Amino acid sequence: MTLNSRTSVLTGPRRLDWTSRAVPQPGAREVRVRVTRIGVCGSDVHYYSHGRIGPFVVNGPLVLGHEVSGVVDAVGAGVTRVNPGDRVALEPGVPCRRCAYCRTGAYNLCPDMTFMATPPVDGALTEYVLWPDDFVYPVPGSVSDDAAALLEPLAVGLWAARRGDVRPGHSVAVLGAGPVGCTTVMAARAVGATTIIAVDLEDFRLDLARQAGATHTLNARHADALAAIRELCAARDGLPLSHAGVDVAFETAGSLPTTRLTLAAPKPGGVAVLVGLPPDPEVSLDIVSAASREVTLRGVFRYANCYPAAVELAASGRVNLDALVTHRFPFTQTPDAFAFADREKRTSMKVMIDVR
Ligand SMILES: [Zn+2]
Ligand SMILES: [Zn+2]
Repeated sequence: MTLNSRTSVLTGPRRLDWTSRAVPQPGAREVRVRVTRIGVCGSDVHYYSHGRIGPFVVNGPLVLGHEVSGVVDAVGAGVTRVNPGDRVALEPGVPCRRCAYCRTGAYNLCPDMTFMATPPVDGALTEYVLWPDDFVYPVPGSVSDDAAALLEPLAVGLWAARRGDVRPGHSVAVLGAGPVGCTTVMAARAVGATTIIAVDLEDFRLDLARQAGATHTLNARHADALAAIRELCAARDGLPLSHAGVDVAFETAGSLPTTRLTLAAPKPGGVAVLVGLPPDPEVSLDIVSAASREVTLRGVFRYANCYPAAVELAASGRVNLDALVTHRFPFTQTPDAFAFADREKRTSMKVMIDVR
């Protein structure tokens, strides 16, 4: 049985139109999911307002939305992981499973990745989606529909913590306390970081970062964040200011000042992890200081093998993803949700769309 799925489509700058798309019966190893919640991500809003992110350009109609939860509606042949009626989260990126990267488990680097809401692949702002069963994760009743959708940004935070090699007892700085900054705080705490410094320009974001597990918060409007981080770490580690810093610093704001701070904040021998990206590809940074302090710079591109841990952390109550939700819109008001998220970046954290 083919279903008609009401779908929100980006058809031009800041223009979302409604259409109906046919969703067929799932094929072998496919699952048909009735979408319940979509989290609006910064990348969705960027495509909505700018039509591109770096090399990814919107050239035709695009369905946004890649933070997805839903209920299994039908399953195809050979599906054993889930049954109709199961509540699930969808991992939005499906790799080829066959290339050299996939074969070593680094599937986030697969050259043939299909990633929701990245042109030309459609996302999930629709009533029904078909998805391969190995990227569908059942969630228990202790994980809300919102939280199940927000396993996606949590997966980013978990991957960032793995890339940073955060260990028990480490000190970390998270530079930018938006949704991914907060999930990076959650991940750092979950793997045992004991000093977690969150930096942002907005106090309400810093309050949410503290709820997420930050032990210290710094508003960079009112404080010299680098000096404050060094003082705190000098006292903590008994090191002179010249050699003080965090074990791992994370850029999670996508701005030039935070990128600079990410290279400057680690102690000698520490790690700088770029989760966000500065707005311009070519920026001037003090790499001499970073190199002479033996700071290791690591990039982050999405995540691999993080959903199982994300489900466990959310299910056990070790992380509270629901706390990140600040605004909510019904599916029928999807255009308003995007206009709001675009306009109110400074006053909103996570905007959710209730598909049903
Ligand atoms: Zn996202
Ligand atoms: Zn591959």
